[in-house]
Amino acid sequence: MGIADTLATSSTPRVKPDYGTAIVGTGFGGLAMAIKLREDGRNDFVLIERGDSVGGTWRDNRYPGAACDVPSHLYSFSFAPKTDWSRLYPTQPELYAYLRQVAEQHQLLPNCQFNSTLTGAVYDEAAQLWRIEVTTAGVSRSLTARALVLANGGLAEPKLPDVPGVETFKGKTFHSSQWDHGYDLAGKRVAVIGTGASAIQFVPAIAPKVGRLDVYQRTPNWIIPRPDRPFSDRTKSLFKHVPLLRKAYRAFIYWGHEARVFGLVLNPAFMKLFQKIGEAHINRQVKDPVLKQKVTPDYLIGCRRILISNDWYPAVSRPNVDLVTQGIREIREHSIVTTDGVEREVDCIIFGTGFYATENPIGHIVHGRDGVTLASEWQNGEEAYLGTLVKKFPNLFLIVGPNTGVGHTSMVFIIESQVALIRRLLAKLRSTDGTLEVRADVQDEFNRKLQQRLSASVWSTGCKSWYKHRSGKITALWPGFTFEFRRQTQSVPDSAYILTKPTVSA
Ligand code: NAP
Repeated sequence: MGIADTLATSSTPRVKPDYGTAIVGTGFGGLAMAIKLREDGRNDFVLIERGDSVGGTWRDNRYPGAACDVPSHLYSFSFAPKTDWSRLYPTQPELYAYLRQVAEQHQLLPNCQFNSTLTGAVYDEAAQLWRIEVTTAGVSRSLTARALVLANGGLAEPKLPDVPGVETFKGKTFHSSQWDHGYDLAGKRVAVIGTGASAIQFVPAIAPKVGRLDVYQRTPNWIIPRPDRPFSDRTKSLFKHVPLLRKAYRAFIYWGHEARVFGLVLNPAFMKLFQKIGEAHINRQVKDPVLKQKVTPDYLIGCRRILISNDWYPAVSRPNVDLVTQGIREIREHSIVTTDGVEREVDCIIFGTGFYATENPIGHIVHGRDGVTLASEWQNGEEAYLGTLVKKFPNLFLIVGPNTGVGHTSMVFIIESQVALIRRLLAKLRSTDGTLEVRADVQDEFNRKLQQRLSASVWSTGCKSWYKHRSGKITALWPGFTFEFRRQTQSVPDSAYILTKPTVSA
């Protein structure tokens, strides 16, 4: 009997749930949700967290050089400003400390169940609540909640490469989001698979200390300069004492980033001009013509996430680093063999191979009406209404759900928009204490228009990217300005969803 069966057989007529709301995850999304519930005077929520502290992405991704590509004053909660960010772009330690501090200031830790992994969630139609299974150190327990908020993160489930023989490797391996700081890389022969946003940060950080470094690149990314700099004490003091200045600065960054949507969505041809910045960056930093050819993408800039780095090209130009562009044929006990037959011995393989941005395994354990799972509903690509509500899944709310991703600005803006919507919907739900479910036709029409708009964007100009489901449908990105997303989340009509009263009284 599977988890779903176990949970389903415990189905009963209406009972009072253990919690009003169960929130999965304590990154930006889960914390924002909890803070807003508190502002509504609620304390009937639980935060289910598989890690040992809050922080989400910024707790897990602690590889050397980890930092954010969005300026700190924008990549933070609007309701929890920090005036003394050390740099323009925040580093992982600073973001992690910020999130822990926010959680402590809002006294959320008593509501957190740490080291607790969601292992099943079944909607009980008779009782109109979620039956949730949580596992800690192999021991499972059950709880119930009227509403379930999945804030488990869009990029949280590490993806390992499907290379033949990967399991036979006898040396050290780890994924970038599970960095083993206890393993000393000094002098070692190291292979890095992947050249995405994570790898371009940790490769420059480890290249000087390892013996040899083979970096396996399948697809080059467009990279532009990273205009990072520390904030002076004077600037920090100004931000502290002149709040209006900090707000104006945040707004300045916000609108500067929003302007990129003109090229990304409205007029991809404009991106050809933008590409000149990437080409000039290569020309400035790469002198070797063979390497120059290897690192130059053959697709339009913006089709995949644009990366920012000043030290990636210098790192792969180092004499102890080899940028390998041949495909990987197999991994053996102590080596990697490429399709040209070359075998390179290594002591350690670091997987910079990204995450399940689509087909997140959590989809298999969340069951809605009639036992359907998110995974079965999303076989042809993830869909939701405003990335938040999913038909056939009453009282389920997603944070960073399908088509909410943004490559051009801060996800925190999107998260706050979703949290405001969920907060309002949870209040509606409490008013009936029954169910709230998006109308199927509303979700379908929303997605039809969304895909129509995406089809004219730069992301559809012909490239392979993690923005797309394997069907080719773009399921990760919001196709427009983030203020449009906010406006739409603010104006969801009552007619978009069905709100029902309790079927049986408690
Ligand atoms: P990613 O961008 O998905 O990159 C994964 C890399 O692994 C790609 O180069 C991919 O090649 C390669 N790869 C995957 N499977 C492979 C295989 N079997 N053989 C060879 N290569 C393989 O993952 P990520 O670098 O962890 O970044 C994910 C996202 O997290 C970013 O795009 C960004 O949104 C976020 N992030 C942000 C920051 C930041 O703000 N600075 C930092 C890190 C991450 P292909 O490209 O050919 O698939």
